[in-house]
Amino acid sequence: TIGMVALDRDGHMAAGTSTNGLTHKVPGRVGDSPIVGAGAFVDSSAGGAAATGDGDIMMRLLPSYLAVELMRAGADPSAACKTAISRIKRHYSGFFGAIICANTTGHYGAACNKVPGFSQFHFMVSNSESESPLMEYVDCL
Ligand code: ASP
Repeated sequence: TIGMVALDRDGHMAAGTSTNGLTHKVPGRVGDSPIVGAGAFVDSSAGGAAATGDGDIMMRLLPSYLAVELMRAGADPSAACKTAISRIKRHYSGFFGAIICANTTGHYGAACNKVPGFSQFHFMVSNSESESPLMEYVDCL
C-alpha cells in the first residue's frame, strides 16, 4: 500500500491509499485501503492517518479512524499511531502492519508492529522547508 496524509497551507488535510492488495488475495476482495477509517481517515480539524498491512485485520479495528480520533482528543501523532497499533496488537499479536499519522499543525509520526523480518518502518516526509523528501523511520512496537 502507498498511503499519504497531506496538509496544505490553508489547513486543509487529505489522506489516501493505493494498493495492489494482499498477495494471493481472493478475486473480488476489497481490502482495507478503500474503506474509510481502515485504510485511511482524515478530518481537517483533527488530523489524518493512513495504514498498510494485513487489511483483513485492519478492517476489524479501524486503526486510521482511531488514530485521528486520538489526535482530536489531544494525542500527538506519534502517540496516536502507537496506540492504534497497540490496539490491534492486543487482539492479533502477529499482526503485520504500520500506520502514519499527521496532525493539523504538521507534526507527524508513525508506528508498526514488530514481527519476524519487520522491525522498522520507513516513510517519506516532504514539506516546504526541505528541498526534497526525506526518509525517516520508526522502530516497531
Ligand atoms: N493493506 C493491503 C490489503 O490488505 C495490503 C498492503 O498494505 O500491502 O489489501
